[in-house]
Amino acid sequence: MTGDGPGGSGAQRRPDHGGDQQRRHLDLIERDRRRLWHPYAPMPAALAAVPVVAAAGATLTLADGRQAIDGMSSWWAAIWGQRHPVLDEAVRTQLELMAHVMFGGITHPAAVELAELLVDVTPAGLEHVFLADSGSVAVEVAIKMALQHARGTGRPQRTRLLTVASGYHGDTLGAMSVCDPTAGMHSMFSHILPAQFFAPPPAPRYGEALQAEHIAPLADLLAEHRQEIAAVILEPILQGAGGMRFYSPDYLAEVRRLCDRHGVPLIADEIATGFGRTGRMFGCDHAGVRPDILCLGKALTGGYLSMAAVLCTPEIAAGVSAAESGALMHGPTFMANPLAAAVATASTRLLLSRPWAAEIAAISESLEAGLAPAAALPGVCDVRVLGAVGVIEATEPLPVAATQELLLDRGVWLRPFGRLLYTMPPYISSAEQLDRITAAMVAAAEALP
Ligand SMILES: *Cc1c(COP(=O)(O)O)cnc(C)c1O
Repeated sequence: MTGDGPGGSGAQRRPDHGGDQQRRHLDLIERDRRRLWHPYAPMPAALAAVPVVAAAGATLTLADGRQAIDGMSSWWAAIWGQRHPVLDEAVRTQLELMAHVMFGGITHPAAVELAELLVDVTPAGLEHVFLADSGSVAVEVAIKMALQHARGTGRPQRTRLLTVASGYHGDTLGAMSVCDPTAGMHSMFSHILPAQFFAPPPAPRYGEALQAEHIAPLADLLAEHRQEIAAVILEPILQGAGGMRFYSPDYLAEVRRLCDRHGVPLIADEIATGFGRTGRMFGCDHAGVRPDILCLGKALTGGYLSMAAVLCTPEIAAGVSAAESGALMHGPTFMANPLAAAVATASTRLLLSRPWAAEIAAISESLEAGLAPAAALPGVCDVRVLGAVGVIEATEPLPVAATQELLLDRGVWLRPFGRLLYTMPPYISSAEQLDRITAAMVAAAEALP
């Protein structure tokens, strides 16, 4: 792992431009608030956005000259940080060939290369690839695949999905219908969403043994309603935005067995967990499980451009294509965008070229050692680490603005979410940067009332 030159020294302002930088900083905040929506934010935004004007390696440069380590990998995506020479070069090379071309009736080398590579790196048996433009759209496509597969295999009454509570699968309507039904951000839409089946969240934590009663509710739902269920969908091993919960691979393996027994396809949403984040290449690899449909996104392009992928087995593809439409009914304008495909191939090859498992294990150790002191703090109820993901769970919601300011003063960018303060740092973070992230997290937890 290498550090990144300019990254480092926390909340410092350059004295020569201090006034100008401060003015630009405030100007951007003001203009942003007047015009732009931010994720899950009102208009105008309640909290000022932090203006970032450049980034290199794991480090963001703020408009006021301060620097902050991107401890979120910009929402799981920027696993190589910013301006990685290999990824930059892949985009530049593709740009000189073409930026975009429609995928209806046309193909191009960047898409073909990426599809072959994804089939190579994912669990054996996933052979066909749909290149979508975002994670939520990938989930929509996966759901359509399941529904069309049911129709194409003569089981049109199978129109519902079975999932587990505490899940998160995206913000579009189909994806929202399988997000956690109560705690999820989307509960206010529940009356217009298709009604799905929900089992309780996977109970056994990562490393704990699976008991019969852990799986019984899901097993019962599946047995009782299998004639209505087009697919089971879940996030393997790690439930992300639904609570940063790590659960037992035995649970996932048992879900696979139950799906086989009842002839129900399994959709694995690995949009957050893919590409090494949990310590294995994919979350499914912890359990040796091959899903029938697999969704990838986020780190797929190393965070450079928006792209997601849906892989499926030949059996699913045949079922889909045998439905009355004779075709998979989806086709986004920016499907298989060449720039995104080229950088996705470069990022995936870069990962494969490195001793990634050892590197992520080292990050894991740093996070464990660095976050351990938080476990004893009064406002903290749990500290957990899996792969390159570290979580401090507080007993009460974290004050977002105050926590962010405290972290930025320590040169760290993180976004607290409810009772969770968590990090999934770029894989290129140096030991010093990881220490700085965990020390800032512990300081934020110490500041809790
Ligand atoms: C982020 C995420 C999505 C949605 O991806 P977008 O690119 O934000 O649409 C879906 N599923 C999981 C598990 C995610 O983490």
